[in-house]
Amino acid sequence: MGLRFVRAAGACAVLGCCAAAHAASDDAGLARFRATYQELVQTNTSLSAGDCTLAAERMAARLKAAGYPDADVRVFVPEGHPKEGGLIAVLHGSSPKLKAILMLAHVDVVEAKREDWTRDPFTLFEENGYFYGRGTSDMKAQAAIWVDNLVRYREEGFKPKRSIKLALTCGEETNSALNGAGWLVDHERAAIDAELALTEGVDGVLDASGKRIALEVLAAEKISQNYVFEVTNPGGHSSRPVPDNAIYALARALDRVSRYEFPVQLDDANRAYFTGMAKIVGGEQGAAMMAVLANPGDRAAVAVLDKNVDWHAMLRTTCVATMLAAGHATNALPQRARANINCRIFPGVPREAVLAQLNEVAADPTVKVSIPEVRGPIAPPAPLTPKILKPIETVAHELWPGVPVVPALEPGASDAQFLNPAGIPTYGVSGIFVDPDGGGIHGLNERVRVQSVYEGRTFLYRLVKLYANQS
Ligand SMILES: [Zn+2]
Repeated sequence: MGLRFVRAAGACAVLGCCAAAHAASDDAGLARFRATYQELVQTNTSLSAGDCTLAAERMAARLKAAGYPDADVRVFVPEGHPKEGGLIAVLHGSSPKLKAILMLAHVDVVEAKREDWTRDPFTLFEENGYFYGRGTSDMKAQAAIWVDNLVRYREEGFKPKRSIKLALTCGEETNSALNGAGWLVDHERAAIDAELALTEGVDGVLDASGKRIALEVLAAEKISQNYVFEVTNPGGHSSRPVPDNAIYALARALDRVSRYEFPVQLDDANRAYFTGMAKIVGGEQGAAMMAVLANPGDRAAVAVLDKNVDWHAMLRTTCVATMLAAGHATNALPQRARANINCRIFPGVPREAVLAQLNEVAADPTVKVSIPEVRGPIAPPAPLTPKILKPIETVAHELWPGVPVVPALEPGASDAQFLNPAGIPTYGVSGIFVDPDGGGIHGLNERVRVQSVYEGRTFLYRLVKLYANQS
């Protein structure tokens, strides 16, 4: 998933003094939720050494302990992928005519090396108001909240009109891995069928002082696509260098990529976002947002927004070198040099158009640019209708009066890219407010505010109830 980055002062409630915090601290189920969250974080689910199936089994055990019958809680394991399983579960609704609400979360995490981290990434640490650990933010908090929701609803005898479904999946974080959400669409379409699905995507935004700026809702997201730059060469002895060198050719092409910016694009999602944020941030940045909305060619205004990495990414397709491999011996001229370029493609732009542009930017026929793998179809985003937004605004207003709900274009990508094309409109909202630096998602020392997680739990518990009783 992605993250938000906003430098602004807003007149919002300061984290630490709201009704939700008091409600959460009163909750007798909070310790149980925390144990669920801890168990998920402490189950390593990285692709290299982890086991999503084990995480799914552990969550299934919690649901069964809460009274769910075996028939309604199912661990699935895709053939040939014993450790990349997941879980589907359901709380049955009373109306046979109304379609279900699906709570979707991936439980796999990005790789984390113990030697690089300050603390063990697969132990949940609580320090200075933060939870630390891989997946604490992306996205085991929300996954644990989904499980906890089902436990609470069952415990209190909640009888929703619509069925409430849960899907925990694997393979979201690794482009080349088997994607659990995609697998469910292909193999368990009926089991996950829903009026709408809720998952990760965007969060609440805090400024550096911990003030809430806005609660974001995912209106559209970019597509993640890898491209490979490769140069091959006859090579030779390193004592006799020649000008034609695979590493240098690749390095020059990468340098050109580093200096290239894709053109600014506007669509409904980033228009809605900048329109909403312009009022919130005000000043030079707010004025620049309005100027870009009026004229995407306003280079001075674009330059102001580009200083913010998140806004920069929301305005265009981006491509960046992420991996490099070259040479075969320290005393040989390289026969091969290869780089992975990860692009985040603006909604609606074909993969092939970006391929053509990268070829143009590489500007060297010896650099072969290719698409190594394609991950799922590209579909238009699900529309953010009042039926979707109203419950979010209602619960947000209860918990955080005065904090605006703002649609956003997410530079990252989520499993929505698999469900939307399958006809299950999927929205990203968490109610978890995160620090402006993103909290180390995908990086080192991933963290999230303890209070934010507990508030997110209250938010999502109430939100799913509202959707489940919508006619
Ligand atoms: Zn994620």
